[in-house]
Amino acid sequence: MSKTVDVSIVVPVYNEAENLPLLFQRLTDALDKEAASYEIIFTNDGSQDASFDLLKGFYQKRPDCVRVIDFHGNFGQHMAIMAAFEKARGTRVVTLDADLQNPPEEIPKLLAKMDEGFDYVGSYRHHRQDTFFRTYVSRLVNWFRESTTDIKMRDQGCMLRAYSRQIIDQIVQSGERSTFIPALAYKFSFNPTEVEVKHDARAAGVSKYNLYRLVRLNFDLITGFSLIPLQIFTLFGMVVSALSGLLVAYLVLRRLIIGPEAEGVFTLFAILFFLVSVVITGIGIMGEYLGRIFQTLSHRPRFVIRQVIEKNG
Ligand code: UDP
Ligand code: MG
Repeated sequence: MSKTVDVSIVVPVYNEAENLPLLFQRLTDALDKEAASYEIIFTNDGSQDASFDLLKGFYQKRPDCVRVIDFHGNFGQHMAIMAAFEKARGTRVVTLDADLQNPPEEIPKLLAKMDEGFDYVGSYRHHRQDTFFRTYVSRLVNWFRESTTDIKMRDQGCMLRAYSRQIIDQIVQSGERSTFIPALAYKFSFNPTEVEVKHDARAAGVSKYNLYRLVRLNFDLITGFSLIPLQIFTLFGMVVSALSGLLVAYLVLRRLIIGPEAEGVFTLFAILFFLVSVVITGIGIMGEYLGRIFQTLSHRPRFVIRQVIEKNG
């Protein structure tokens, strides 16, 4: 499996049995038309449903262009993509979701952009089909990411993206864990662009991201690419110290001139609770960075592959 191909399509799969047959049909239809040589790399991210059997079936049907990486457990969407990047042979690599939210028919549009000389083709969703909550939170994080990192992406959540071989090599080399692939790729790109793509509601099943996983993912996006949360915290601490210094000076003077006071106890409590919560948040932020250091230093594998199903040679 060393021969290069024109395009590698990378699809992370976690319990998507209901979507896979149609996805495979639409993907191969769209790619066969493109006439270029291609491979589709599916990573089975520890699915508990029939996904893996279906993927094996796809391989048996089209052994020349299907490769299946089977994870030993659930390591997350971005690690599933990372594992596929390590194996990809394409001069261009396209990622997309397995739930048909990203229409495979849009792939040629991305490839055409790459032919124009861009090394990173991102995308933003025309009429995003997600819940109100998801859309709103994602807009908020988008804004925060724009203001704390130098990563410019109109729509970070859209995974339908195309990358050049050079970017893929750098991502693989970086060995990053708990990362956010589109942001990492952006860091390595010279000439990025974005196109508008259609977005559909999930064809079947439910989102694999619950609130906790969403929060984790967004922390990875922010703490993985910027130190600004820590710096904001330090700055805030300095401003609060200055203000409380003034308050102390004022109270000392007041005590000397007017005498002691015992009123305003609850106001003081309110201020105290607020500050305690800020301190806890700060410890949390520090913990995020510490956790990343810990994970990086522990040298444990980022994911474990049980087997790879592909044609030899
Ligand atoms: N996915 C994965 N591992 C996970 C969670 C998700 O491989 O732990 C895959 C999932 O099968 C899908 C893609 O990542 O192909 C995006 O997941 P999902 O559609 O649930 O996310 P959403 O569209 O809600 O952001
Ligand atoms: Mg989805």
